[in-house]
Amino acid sequence: MKKIQLKNLVKKAISKQVFLYLLELKNKLSKIKHIQYSEFKMQEYLKTSSLSVQQSQFIFHSRSRMLNLADNYQGQNSDNSCPVCLNSSSKDSQLHLYQQCSELMDNTSLISDNVSYCDLFSDSDLTKQIQVASTLQQHYQKRMTILNDRDQVFTD
Ligand SMILES: [Zn+2]
Repeated sequence: MKKIQLKNLVKKAISKQVFLYLLELKNKLSKIKHIQYSEFKMQEYLKTSSLSVQQSQFIFHSRSRMLNLADNYQGQNSDNSCPVCLNSSSKDSQLHLYQQCSELMDNTSLISDNVSYCDLFSDSDLTKQIQVASTLQQHYQKRMTILNDRDQVFTD
């Protein structure tokens, strides 16, 4: 075997071990254990030039379940129900925000049958990932506007 072949083989083996190690580590962390990785590489949404920095950050935050919703920070909130539709049986979660909240869903919400919320956490299809993220972001902004408007009414 040539030196370069051996070098590549070692590199590949190490990279696989590192990937498996990180995967194991990830599965222990509740915030990110649901994210699926098929290989050890920089995520497309962080590399692509078709997204703004803010859009990439939003994808990162939503994949890590760091959006400011009660369900994402369960220890800090006694009431986890959705503050927008005020339905006590609806959790203030990213899934609810994406496709369930009656106050946020409208005909501009681009939810198609071939895209699902899970696509956000997969690294196999960037287009679907962006589609889910942009709907989620749209609903997130609408949610903030609704909540801010309500605050205004109460403080005026
Ligand atoms: Zn709701």
